[in-house]
Amino acid sequence: MVYPIVAYGDPVLRARAANIPADFADLDKLIADMFETMAHAHGVGLAAPQINKSIRLFVVDSTPMVSDPNEENPRFRQPALRRAFINPVMVEETGAAWGFDEGCLSIPGIHEQVQRPERVRLRYEDEQRQVREEEFDGIAARIIQHEYDHLEGVLFTDHLNALKKRLLKNRLTRISKGEVDADYRMRFAGGGRR
Ligand code: ZN
Repeated sequence: MVYPIVAYGDPVLRARAANIPADFADLDKLIADMFETMAHAHGVGLAAPQINKSIRLFVVDSTPMVSDPNEENPRFRQPALRRAFINPVMVEETGAAWGFDEGCLSIPGIHEQVQRPERVRLRYEDEQRQVREEEFDGIAARIIQHEYDHLEGVLFTDHLNALKKRLLKNRLTRISKGEVDADYRMRFAGGGRR
């Protein structure tokens, strides 16, 4: 099942998402639906708040970003990461910050350079609800940092400087009102869908 994606301006994107209890029903189905929703929108990451569920879960599929055989940037030369992350905890972020043009399925049409540290160490539960702790770098770390932010109510535009934020303000307001052209179904705070 493909969910509509919550657009910028909805309070669910600003809430700190809640932990998922061990007896949470139909988590497998929800994860499968999130992978389907992400693929449908050609995304490389999707967090549960983006489908209007304020719970600590995101899915990642970096395949489109690591599949160019001619890629020379080492940050994009790594195995594809396709995984669900349940109840993740950011243990630490390390390494020098680097800039990357980020986008977000909740903020269609806007791409801006965001600086983030090179590496992350993340503790999370996998789909079998086994706790794992792992380090990620390069583009995998970048996607994880962006999706993790969603669980904290943070959007990539929050990382921009004051001038950039001011320049984007009107476009963000238009997105929140549904004045946006996305090739996937969206859900707006005002209640509209398109
Ligand atoms: Zn996003």
